[in-house]
Amino acid sequence: MTLTEVRHLLVELDLRPSKALGQNFLIDGNILEIITREADIRSQETVLEIGPGLGALTHKLTDRAGTVIAVEKDTRLAEYIRQKYPEVQLITGDAVKVPLPVCDKVVANLPYSISTAILERFVEGEAPPRRLVLTVQREVGQRLAAKPRHKDYGALTLFTQLRYHVTIVHVVSPNCFFPAPNVESAIIALDRRDPPVKLEPGAPFHDWVRLGFQQRRKMLRKLLGNHALVDTVLQSLGLPVTARAEELSLEQWIIMANHHRPAAA
Ligand code: SAM
Repeated sequence: MTLTEVRHLLVELDLRPSKALGQNFLIDGNILEIITREADIRSQETVLEIGPGLGALTHKLTDRAGTVIAVEKDTRLAEYIRQKYPEVQLITGDAVKVPLPVCDKVVANLPYSISTAILERFVEGEAPPRRLVLTVQREVGQRLAAKPRHKDYGALTLFTQLRYHVTIVHVVSPNCFFPAPNVESAIIALDRRDPPVKLEPGAPFHDWVRLGFQQRRKMLRKLLGNHALVDTVLQSLGLPVTARAEELSLEQWIIMANHHRPAAA
């Protein structure tokens, strides 16, 4: 959609973009093409769109996918999408809360304020989609793709990379949206994959990672409590016993968590 089309549509629908709902509508054809190319949708696939808004992405999805499901919180926009795209299975509700359907792919320009909450649902859910192509705040994209020892590397990085390979596809200028947000965005692609090492059932990976990054300047042996175990594992991994959370790669975190033995009852 062009800026003129978006402006006209907003007037026609008597809508003013809501800041609270992160309503920054895509108005750049090049960005739309990049998202569509990266999504690489096949005719047998089920695609989920979060926040279809005025339908900038939706029509590309309905052209290509076997089934399109969309979740829109704004009831006025949901009504517009329902009328304009009757083939879309529309869920009117909050994508952070509603049960999300099983799908092959997710394509979305996410509202900034809920992007990590949405992402956590896919990354920690029971049926993770095969590929996600998302537009998020640039900083969020950098956190997801971060490498060990980088300031952006954290718990969200590891939880995401446990299941997905993350690529930053393209940085997006605020001018590609109306109204223009205050920050840059990034198109990211997440591809489902097996972790580099098998995570044993019951291994406290998520709890330990969370704990480790709650005070990222503190040594892991202090944070995780079990000095002897942590020292032994760190040394076997070739790391100093003074290591902090950000020094361990995903593989090393998994190995560490796999060493946990629950206390005997
Ligand atoms: N997809 C459209 C586009 O690219 O132009 C709109 C993107 S806009 C950044 C975000 C959309 O998400 C808006 O339509 C907004 O109403 C919707 N939205 C905001 N919060 C939501 C939530 N919690 N659940 C579902 N949709 C939400």
